[in-house]
Amino acid sequence: MKLVIANWKCNPATQEEAERFFDMIEERTKKLGKIRNLKIVICPPFVWLSGLRGEIPNLRLGGQDCHWEQSGAYTGEVSPKMLKDLGCDYVIVGHSERREYFNETNEIINKKLLAALKTRLKPILCVGEKEDEEMGLIIKNQLIEGLKAVNRIQMQNIIIAYEPVWAIGTKNPCQPDDAMRAALFIRKILNELYNRKLAEETAIIYGGSVNSKIVLSYIKEAGMDGLLIGKASLDISEFIKIIEQVNG
Ligand code: PEP
Repeated sequence: MKLVIANWKCNPATQEEAERFFDMIEERTKKLGKIRNLKIVICPPFVWLSGLRGEIPNLRLGGQDCHWEQSGAYTGEVSPKMLKDLGCDYVIVGHSERREYFNETNEIINKKLLAALKTRLKPILCVGEKEDEEMGLIIKNQLIEGLKAVNRIQMQNIIIAYEPVWAIGTKNPCQPDDAMRAALFIRKILNELYNRKLAEETAIIYGGSVNSKIVLSYIKEAGMDGLLIGKASLDISEFIKIIEQVNG
């Protein structure tokens, strides 16, 4: 199963636009005819979620973040339970923009991930190094701390997104070979933390300046299980091209 996950970030500006984008994606996805082993996940801003209920099983919704508690005195927060109630099946945790601008630590991210799992949301755990950091050291730590107390059964529902920070929103994507190396490294760590079967079966996706021209190199050459797409997911014709290519 390949995953194409759209992270709309703080866009679009209106509910009307969000619904229009979603409807266009849904229409075009229906026209693909046979969807082969592909799941498309749209992660819009929380406030637009309630207007976006899709009819196609392969087009799902996700949150861009969640709180670690299900309710209570946490002004401004949105809980996993609320996301579930709005039809989400997935949630992104530990996106580099949340780590960078909202000071999220691995410990906070781990609490969010555990809360998401308890609510039967599939967490998409983002890991990745900055330009001046060593990939192996950073990712190992992000995985060990981010997956703390996650058991083998829960691990079956987790997706790991390798997103080198220097490649996000920069038009400077990671070379497919390097993405493949990072994915192999992630599998090595998962083998150490869990077992070989989980290491092999966990979905590892790539994110960072992907567009329709380069998308297949990550799937075919690098063997990634899918993609996390920011900017290009807001250009609907570009996003459709990406979906079409991954669908084959
Ligand atoms: C992202 O924000 O997760 C992302 C991959 O963004 P972009 O595709 O714009 O680099």
